[in-house]
Amino acid sequence: MQSQKTSTPTPDQIRRAPKVLLHDHLDGGLRPGTIVDLARESGYAGLPESDPDKLGTWFREAADSGSLERYLETFAHTCAVMQTREALVRVAAECAEDLAADGVVYAEIRYAPEQHLEAGLTLEEVVEAVNEGFREGERRAREDGNRIRVGALLTAMRHAARSLEIAELANRYRDHGVVGFDIAGAEAGFPPTRHLDAFEYLKRENNHFTIHAGEAFGLPSIWQALQWCGADRLGHGVRIIDDIQVAEDGAVKLGPLASYVRDKRIPLEMCPSSNLQTAAAASYAEHPIGLLRRLHFRVTVNTDNRLMSGTSMSREFEHLVEAFAYSLDDLQWFTVNAMKSAFIPFDERLAMINDVIKPGYAELKAEWLFQQAAATPALASGSATPQG
Ligand SMILES: [Zn+2]
Repeated sequence: MQSQKTSTPTPDQIRRAPKVLLHDHLDGGLRPGTIVDLARESGYAGLPESDPDKLGTWFREAADSGSLERYLETFAHTCAVMQTREALVRVAAECAEDLAADGVVYAEIRYAPEQHLEAGLTLEEVVEAVNEGFREGERRAREDGNRIRVGALLTAMRHAARSLEIAELANRYRDHGVVGFDIAGAEAGFPPTRHLDAFEYLKRENNHFTIHAGEAFGLPSIWQALQWCGADRLGHGVRIIDDIQVAEDGAVKLGPLASYVRDKRIPLEMCPSSNLQTAAAASYAEHPIGLLRRLHFRVTVNTDNRLMSGTSMSREFEHLVEAFAYSLDDLQWFTVNAMKSAFIPFDERLAMINDVIKPGYAELKAEWLFQQAAATPALASGSATPQG
């Protein structure tokens, strides 16, 4: 018999495994067909393609350009068709539905309310429309036999000056579908310390926030996000690898910031496919997630932008299983890490871990064990005849 370690999970097992997603942008996950429909309904003429398949390909290719700035350009199109209440409800509902169909049981989906005001909606109307969509998507998922819970994170844009206003909005809706706050956008030239008043406000309100940091930019960005701004989690954080030295003999030495991140169990919202597209990593096999997982950092796996990266939670896990030969135990570890790091109350996180995630993985591992047991006697006797 092989080792007790569960075998390499199949794509079907990965899809059925309960998954938790902490870093996914609402305007980065639309169905191409929905973009085409919404553009037609709203009279938006800026789409580069009108055929959904071709449009999906266009998004992936544009995002493959290798620069974060160009990657962000693709969002002009998705935001353009997300300007009415109906459009926001539809996009949010489909988001929850798609994630649930992929086996995601808990997700925190982020969006920037300030980017959906062009047709006259107020910030509050945007939040309420997205909340309505998430509830509708959860309901439709239940009808399809899938269970998912979705919370919203409100994002403020790094280059804009509305972060305090958005932080206040997040706080106002914290018991109504919004679980936290985030800062996103191009890192270069827009350090998180520009938004200190928003972070200080949220800390005084005992609220939670994550910051996109250490993606295109190095250690100073991570350091500021943690030590000046007080982020609960790091969006990406891949560049923490710059503070870790691996010697020829494999000995590892952590610098002071990397030590702090590991010791304080700071969650890293890693998004492998997205990092490859923005050139923050060269290949899945070379992605820092392999080393960080071995060193027991609080690593989580995420999708970032499912449309632009042509990905899903299952696809991200498949890439990592292929690159690092991860087992079901590894996938469970990432999933429990993510659930521990969610912004919902502790008792609810614990219930998700004990009542949903662990039983889900136990079921998949049990399946595997019985398959192994069924296969073993025939192999041992050198005969294909089943043993009694
Ligand atoms: Zn992101």
